Amino acid sequence: MKRMKPTFILPTLAAVVLAGGGHATLTNDPAAMNHSTNSTMNFPFQLSDAGWRQRLTPEQFHVLREAGTERAFTGKYWNTKDPGIYRCAACGEILFRSDNKFDSPCGWPSFSQIAAQGKVIERDDFSHGMHRKEVLCANCGSHLGHVFDDGPGPTGLRYCINSASVNFADTNSPATNAPGK
Ligand SMILES: [Zn+2]
Repeated sequence: MKRMKPTFILPTLAAVVLAGGGHATLTNDPAAMNHSTNSTMNFPFQLSDAGWRQRLTPEQFHVLREAGTERAFTGKYWNTKDPGIYRCAACGEILFRSDNKFDSPCGWPSFSQIAAQGKVIERDDFSHGMHRKEVLCANCGSHLGHVFDDGPGPTGLRYCINSASVNFADTNSPATNAPGK
């Protein structure tokens, strides 16, 4: 009599591993049908909804944790050209650099690449009758924006990011400069 090999474990593990990039793998969990951000995925930095609400402004919570979108040309960084870094507004991870920010007519901060490999994850987003690639912080799973393939070279990518999802830090400011002009 043959023994069954426990191969059923493998698809389960694969689903967990792929959850960062695969849409279909999320649908086996009913909770994943809720579009609000990623309570079913494991990230290094996690908080309860109550914890996020304490940490974030209502606008940040809506964008970062409920996959909201700020209106074009209303965010604080869409036209920022200062040299510096952009950190996740939810967890503080460095996500983008001003070197990769470019003028885009879309009205949101736009970057041609991320600060380093693995800083964000992408997944399919079929909301609003469109197919887009949603961009999430890889450290905390918060919603950042979307990535499109109409950006400048050499990547050809446009990371279209909500100002509310990031905090800018001007790295070239001398420490003696008082903040606030
Ligand atoms: Zn984050």
